[in-house]
Amino acid sequence: MRYIGLVRAPPDDWSTRHSVPATARRTAALLNVLDGDLPPAPERVAEVLRAHGEQEPLALTPEDVDRMRAAGAALREVFAAEDVDRAADVLNRLLGEHTGPLRLTAHAGRTPWHPHLDRADDGPWDEWFLASSCMALAVVLWDRQRPPGRVCASPTCSQVFVALGSGPERRYCSRRCATRERVAAHRRSHPARDPGTPR
Ligand SMILES: [Zn+2]
Repeated sequence: MRYIGLVRAPPDDWSTRHSVPATARRTAALLNVLDGDLPPAPERVAEVLRAHGEQEPLALTPEDVDRMRAAGAALREVFAAEDVDRAADVLNRLLGEHTGPLRLTAHAGRTPWHPHLDRADDGPWDEWFLASSCMALAVVLWDRQRPPGRVCASPTCSQVFVALGSGPERRYCSRRCATRERVAAHRRSHPARDPGTPR
């Protein structure tokens, strides 16, 4: 069975790494690292890309990060949309203005075949970010008939998250934000009494 040596077992994440949920989560993680008054260091953005399975070379320049921040601001509107109709409107506008026709790529055999909406495999980072994000968010919206993601409902948090679970819609980016807001709401409805005040 000489040929067995030629069959290289794909890594466990061969297909899941490029799945729609994984891409949607990567979009949210990139929006969160790109958000803020000042641009993040290119290496911080590269770390997020690496953590979500992007392969080297991840040589981003400060100009790449600036352009990705502009793409991120446009994508944030999808997360900020109040309902599914509005999220679909925003996605349709981004798809019309920024993406090319649907094509399949396997990046010369380095990845499973998957769809792309950017114009070329070696295009600029911002074009790739916008196009791959629009694709994943559009499929999540299609699948769930809900907005594909949300901005955290905490007034002190601006993180976005993708909402892929079933059940009631999630409002907070994390357990930490949910707990903090629950405690704050409880304090508002049960103002602290002076310990000396009889009940
Ligand atoms: Zn939050």
